[in-house]
Amino acid sequence: IDINHGRRDHQDHDGGLRASWAKELIGHALRERVENIDHDYCEAGEEDTFFVADLGEVYRQHLRWKLNLPRVKPFYAVKCNPDTKLLQMLSALGTGFDCASKNEVEQVLNLGVEPSRIIYAQPCKTNSYVRYVASQGVRQMTFDNADELRKIARLYPEAELFLRILTDDSSSLCRLSLKFGASLDSTDSLLALARDLGLNVVGVSFHVGSGASDPRAFLKAVQDARVVFHQAAAHGFALKTLDVGGGFCSDNTFEQMAGVLRAALDDYFPAHSGINLIAEPGRYYASSAFTLACNVIARRTMEDELASSYMVYVNDGLYGNFSSIMFDHQHPVAKILRSGGRTLYDTPAAESTDDGIEYSIWGPTCDGIDRITESIRFPQLLDVGDWLYFEDMGAYTKCSATTFNGFPNTHDVIYVCSEPGAEALLDLH
Ligand code: PLP
Repeated sequence: IDINHGRRDHQDHDGGLRASWAKELIGHALRERVENIDHDYCEAGEEDTFFVADLGEVYRQHLRWKLNLPRVKPFYAVKCNPDTKLLQMLSALGTGFDCASKNEVEQVLNLGVEPSRIIYAQPCKTNSYVRYVASQGVRQMTFDNADELRKIARLYPEAELFLRILTDDSSSLCRLSLKFGASLDSTDSLLALARDLGLNVVGVSFHVGSGASDPRAFLKAVQDARVVFHQAAAHGFALKTLDVGGGFCSDNTFEQMAGVLRAALDDYFPAHSGINLIAEPGRYYASSAFTLACNVIARRTMEDELASSYMVYVNDGLYGNFSSIMFDHQHPVAKILRSGGRTLYDTPAAESTDDGIEYSIWGPTCDGIDRITESIRFPQLLDVGDWLYFEDMGAYTKCSATTFNGFPNTHDVIYVCSEPGAEALLDLH
């Protein structure tokens, strides 16, 4: 199987063919849905925004992971996108899961996943959730402070604990170390306290920040983790696992990140050390698998002496699946799916140009911040009833969508699978 398939940045001849197959499948699903909707007559909600999810892309991302980080077992971060079919695909591929709440743990257990394949990777946990995971036999969890250790000693002394350490996350889109992670100044005393409380520390974890861009953050974090392994040994803990967290992107920065991390792991935690290596990737698996389609519900013409421009309003926005603009610092790019009764998906006319007609794209709520795109140009004249689509909409999108203004935050997902081999892992229909 060619893992370059479907990726837009480097495709060899075979990859190019496979990419067009994935595009064709997604295009077919988008087309079939929107061509049947007549916005002049349809019921309220029939023209709602919807996703097409290509689970073949998830499969390819998994193979790409195994190729680049063969020693590191991924525990998918459910928070990124808890779509059930996505979780089922990952479960079938044998990944573990990083959960941060009772509901996430419950959702994963309900898929039939063994508790040993779950890590409760939230250093500051709710008491009742700790009791819940204890009752379900989910033992692995993280901590980064003394109060949390005392909580765990009271509620779940048998837990298998990972000490989460601070990282330099300054190159990332979403910084996490402002909130979590023990500094190297404090790790020794935390380990001493864990020893005094009779707790079971089994590993070290870190997170270099979501959407990280500087691979040196991984190198430094691995070096720091090595120091903590030595400190733990001095306190009588024989740590057995290093958790390198998330932060990986699905674009072509992945190979570089993974290369630096792989080399660091080989230097500081070589295979013969017998240390298990795990990670908590979210964005890496979910982002490129989901495409979102939105309907143009209104248009405002902005007259100008030279040329008219338009404000178009679509039925999804910052309070909905474009929450990633606010929370995840993303810049989703619109393409035309259907305009003037013609489907343009995957044609040059669907792409933005330097000239053409200028648009700004707005969400459906009454709030002025609900703007998706400040300026984009298309050769086509967009009007009410036309459709736009946005690629790479799988990460931190629908999971943080609200129902503000009464707009729904649950939308249909049409599943396709561009890897025939992977289809057998799931019942897609
Ligand atoms: N692990 C933890 C503890 C996180 O907080 C997050 C994201 O916030 C992730 C994993 C997933 O990160 P990413 O989507 O960047 O891979």
